[in-house]
Amino acid sequence: MNGTNTSKRNHALVLGASLGGLMTARALSSHFQKVTLIERDPVNRQPESRHGQPQTRHLHGLLPGGFQIMLTYFPDLRQALIDAGANVADFAENMIWYTHGGYRRRFDMHLPAVTMSRPLLEHLIRERVLALPTVELIDTSTVQHLTTTDNGQRITGVVIRQTATGLEKTITADLVVDATGRGSHSPQWLHELGYEAPKTSEVTVKVGYATRIYKRDPNDSRTNCWFLYTPNAPTEKRFGGAFPVEGNRWVISVGGWHGDSAPIDEAGFTNFVRSLPMPELFDIISNNEPLTEPYAYRFPASLRRHYESLNRFPVGYLVLGDAISSFNPTYGQGMTSACMQALALDKLLADPVDEQKLAKTFFQRVAHIIDTPWQLAVGEDFRYSETIGPKPAGVDLINKYISRVQRATLHDEVVCAAFLRVMSLLKPPTSLFHPRIFWRVMTAN
Ligand SMILES: Cc1cc2nc3c(=O)[nH]c(=O)nc-3n(C[C@H](O)[C@H](O)[C@H](O)COP(=O)(O)OP(=O)(O)OC[C@H]3O[C@@H](n4cnc5c(N)ncnc54)[C@H](O)[C@@H]3O)c2cc1C
Repeated sequence: MNGTNTSKRNHALVLGASLGGLMTARALSSHFQKVTLIERDPVNRQPESRHGQPQTRHLHGLLPGGFQIMLTYFPDLRQALIDAGANVADFAENMIWYTHGGYRRRFDMHLPAVTMSRPLLEHLIRERVLALPTVELIDTSTVQHLTTTDNGQRITGVVIRQTATGLEKTITADLVVDATGRGSHSPQWLHELGYEAPKTSEVTVKVGYATRIYKRDPNDSRTNCWFLYTPNAPTEKRFGGAFPVEGNRWVISVGGWHGDSAPIDEAGFTNFVRSLPMPELFDIISNNEPLTEPYAYRFPASLRRHYESLNRFPVGYLVLGDAISSFNPTYGQGMTSACMQALALDKLLADPVDEQKLAKTFFQRVAHIIDTPWQLAVGEDFRYSETIGPKPAGVDLINKYISRVQRATLHDEVVCAAFLRVMSLLKPPTSLFHPRIFWRVMTAN
């Protein structure tokens, strides 16, 4: 591959075929003659929650920022979601959000978001990615380690092991992208090759989810709305959400920070939902038939791997998605962040790029993308004294202001719209300090 050649490169490998990997494969398909996805799990051509992505059984909403990127790659996705029974609706009008002692103001922002089961969204994306003639998927194959040139300076591919046979096989590529999620082995693989592993920021939140699926009456007047309760930290620790999804179902997830997790026995789950100040959640579980037992998920800490700070990094290798940053999931940012990173890679490859500098430039851009969801998540988490980890400078002061912003969202449409754009990852948090917003926030309270 010529360092400054913009004609199509030969072969790219994407490790992990979950949402981050699929969006990356789509982005790379514009720049490589062939893109191969490698996935450890067996992958069936239907909505399913796989062993390697247990989080997909829990509440997932798609923020407007991520949806917009998906629509640029797959313009028919909106209709496909609607046809499949997902809920595509306005982020400001249709989200009923109880926070700081009241309901956030509702109005139409013309900013569509999606509530659906996570497996449905992935299935629709996967079908579109695999329909591309240059993309193929090799499933039931685990990436074992990376291969390099003799001098170790370039990644030339990976060795995979096929689950059924135990056979190992080497696959070569011009570019390898790790999208294997939070448990990524990249730090270890790089270390084995004599490279420094990236420093990691870890912020302990001990968030516990309990999720249960219920039948939904299609005639329920609230059927295209979703319900969200977030705590007024630090005095409150619990959260809850009820999202309408395809198949006339509600997905209900409830839980709490720092060990205040929801129980998964029938009575404990019910009492936990009843304890939340938002009565709609208890109403939904009381008046609809449960389709599953409650099931749990534990999220110990937000994680960020600082690849942007490394001085030495092999040519031909990148890392993205949850493999580079995995945020406290209660803010619903992971899929959108992965989409933004895939788009950044697409844009980077669209210009002439010196491949020696590709990783450095990519990681710098991704660090910039991650800064916003990281600040939003970690900033909120540090309202709790139990939160442990690197605390961003000035966060207590910022949190005081954000509390005022949140109270203002209960009645001020302009502040509310500004806040929701930041939550959607469409605007940076600094936009909340614009004089027009600042004045309204300070006078509103
Ligand atoms: C409880 C919970 C709720 C969440 N809610 C939301 C939400 O509401 N909105 C939102 O946007 N995000 C949410 N997220 C985050 C979201 O799930 C992820 O950001 C998203 O799945 C993208 O992750 P990924 O593709 O990078 O990694 P993953 O989804 O973790 O996928 C990694 C893939 O790599 C495969 N793999 C791993 N190792 C290997 C190997 N050695 N060889 C081959 N394959 C391998 C795995 O099998 C898996 O398929 C939530 C997360 C959690 C934990």
